[in-house]
Amino acid sequence: MNWLDVIAEEDLADGAAALFRNAFGGDPDGVWIAPGRVNLIGEHIDYAGGLVLPFALPYATAVAVRRREDTTMRAVSTDTNQTWTGQLGEIGPGNPSGWAAYVAGVSWALQEHGVGGVDVAVHSSVPVGSGLSSSAALECSFALALDDLFDLRLDRKLLIEASIRAENEIAGASTGGMDQNIAMSAETGHALLLDCLDGSTRQIPLDLAGSGSRLLVIDTNAPHRLVDGQYGARREALDIACAELGVTTLRGLDLDTAVSGLVDDTLIRRVRHVVSEIGRVEQAAELLDRGAAGAALGELMTASHVSLRDDYEVSSPELDSAVDAARRAGAYGARMTGGGFGGSAIALVPSNLVQAVADEIVSSAARYELPPPTFLTAEPAGSAHRFF
Ligand code: ADP
Ligand code: MG
Repeated sequence: MNWLDVIAEEDLADGAAALFRNAFGGDPDGVWIAPGRVNLIGEHIDYAGGLVLPFALPYATAVAVRRREDTTMRAVSTDTNQTWTGQLGEIGPGNPSGWAAYVAGVSWALQEHGVGGVDVAVHSSVPVGSGLSSSAALECSFALALDDLFDLRLDRKLLIEASIRAENEIAGASTGGMDQNIAMSAETGHALLLDCLDGSTRQIPLDLAGSGSRLLVIDTNAPHRLVDGQYGARREALDIACAELGVTTLRGLDLDTAVSGLVDDTLIRRVRHVVSEIGRVEQAAELLDRGAAGAALGELMTASHVSLRDDYEVSSPELDSAVDAARRAGAYGARMTGGGFGGSAIALVPSNLVQAVADEIVSSAARYELPPPTFLTAEPAGSAHRFF
């Protein structure tokens, strides 16, 4: 069975610095690190003005960066075997394409603040493209590096915005902003209640081990599917629903009002997910405030999954297999996390059942001829920071 090792920060930083010296010669000016995340509950509602409840993972991305005296940018990563070289002035939507867009886009988004050229080497322990937010870990570690190296002294809110713009506008991938917020604002031992309507945040203590449970993260290793159209279609459906209901946001609507104002069955189901999911996040936050991270939280997570599967239609066979198996083997609850259509699921599990739950998930995947999943367990980690 495949358990993903946590890489100590020193080793992560060493990996980035070693790649830097190999690729560019000489030492980097510094190394900056930002975490991946899981979202406990509140899925597909960050772009709908909802509430989300992510926490940072002890899996992170390190960038080793050195300032240049010209406007050239070079980027290399241990996760790809290409070096990208370009000019700051050439960066724009779709250019560069591919992974370099996530770093070049941040320089582009911060250009008005006076960033110059850099060399950057990337080394990460966040599984890439698994719904655990390797993209925001990359953007945010690099945004922090630019802020330090060019002495921008920008508020983290602005670095979050720049990271979101990089992903939306340069990489051309839709993101609602949850991932960048948690990467920049996480506190060790806390989940972050993020209000996506007004941007306000509240840290909520989350001591899983202390409450006798573990959060099992299951990377389904599902094949990559082209689903960007699906994401856009969900956002569009919510826009149409808002127009029909004569509101600017679904936030604050009760389920009956929202549903009785709509005719189309698909729209009704999409809206039912959003409105009910916002309610579940509110309930989850109340539970965590009382220090209750057990069965009641698990039930909310499972209800979230059912809603995402049946009403929002963003699950996949791999995710459903993992969630059903986890529950069969005694998890308090389980759900897909992240955008869906593959990626990762999470299960809230009594501490003594972690191995049994993982075993059942592996058997279930084999039975359905799905890829063998990868596992990790996590307690909430801290936010993006400079390592040296
Ligand atoms: P997730 O954020 O859930 O991992 P995304 O599709 O949002 O998935 O982002 C994954 C993309 O981000 C990758 O395809 C790649 O382009 C880029 N990326 C993230 N981390 C790295 C890395 N360490 N090295 C190179 N590219 C990366
Ligand atoms: Mg991402």
